[in-house]
Amino acid sequence: MATDVRLKVLPRVESRGHRYVWLRYLTQAITIGILFVVPLSGLARVDLYGGNHRMLYKEASLKEGLAAVILGIAAMYIATFLINFACGRMFCGWGCPVGFLNRLADVAQLKPDKRHAKWRRWRDAAGPLGHSTLLVVSCMLWWTSAATYVALDSPLALAWVWGLTLAGIAGLASLGWWWRWGFCMRACPIGLYYSFIAPSKEFGIFFREATTDGSRDACLHCNACIKVCPVDLNPMDLYEPIPARGGVSVADAPANNHCLKCGDCIQACEMMIDLAAPRRGITDVPLRFGFYEGEQRLVRTKTTATTGNPAADSAT
Ligand code: SF4
Ligand code: SF4
Ligand code: SF4
Repeated sequence: MATDVRLKVLPRVESRGHRYVWLRYLTQAITIGILFVVPLSGLARVDLYGGNHRMLYKEASLKEGLAAVILGIAAMYIATFLINFACGRMFCGWGCPVGFLNRLADVAQLKPDKRHAKWRRWRDAAGPLGHSTLLVVSCMLWWTSAATYVALDSPLALAWVWGLTLAGIAGLASLGWWWRWGFCMRACPIGLYYSFIAPSKEFGIFFREATTDGSRDACLHCNACIKVCPVDLNPMDLYEPIPARGGVSVADAPANNHCLKCGDCIQACEMMIDLAAPRRGITDVPLRFGFYEGEQRLVRTKTTATTGNPAADSAT
């Protein structure tokens, strides 16, 4: 299974650190921040316990509060739709809090590394639980005010709010721990929808086998990029149609439709090239994240670089 192979490669990739790690913390902070700020600021909230509804930072009726919440959800939907429209499943790779939970669960399930201090192991283990807590509480706050969590005058309200919160945390953390990327590959309806709503044809992971001057292979053919991919794709050939993945996924779509644009393959590739550079004297990284320059996949013959398109190659 993809996850087992990924967990074997991940420790080496993670131990080196990477700019994407920090960037992803930033995008996640934005997602979770929005989920907290909207209800806490009073931009939109329904308060099912205290009746303290809010719309545009003012007191509101239930109807108005509900309308504000629905508009807030619609606005987030439009934002993710536009991201998806322009860049493929970027939201999955960078903004989705469930995808990030899967990632934290991956890290938590890595075999403990003796080089890591004990506190780091505890931190990694606590990651999925802490993130699930933030996500569930932020969602609860759209439907009740923070005061409900300390409504000591109403044991029933306390029981409801704490019961739902704890059940949500347990459910979410379990999903991240046991199902993880399998959920994204086979069961997430949003992922399925993202896969087929205009996945970008011009933006994503770009593979160039040769060095820039075309004289040698830049690619090590090590397959680290394939092994680390959380959804079991070949980043070097994302336009190859792939079979059905079970669950709600659709057969024979290009792998690019399923690509989360998470950049893990880039991270692994940069590491492999870095490690091999002193021996090979080559620093060109065959995988790149961005707009395609020609084809998604450029392969070379032993003598010269090609486009990978036989018709075009024979014309040159
Ligand atoms: S497939 Fe679903 S759960 Fe997974 S990252 Fe995408 S939106 Fe999130
Ligand atoms: S191909 Fe690369 S960017 Fe796409 S899902 Fe796999 S690792 Fe992430
Ligand atoms: S990780 Fe990089 S060098 Fe290794 S096979 Fe993939 S593209 Fe080639």
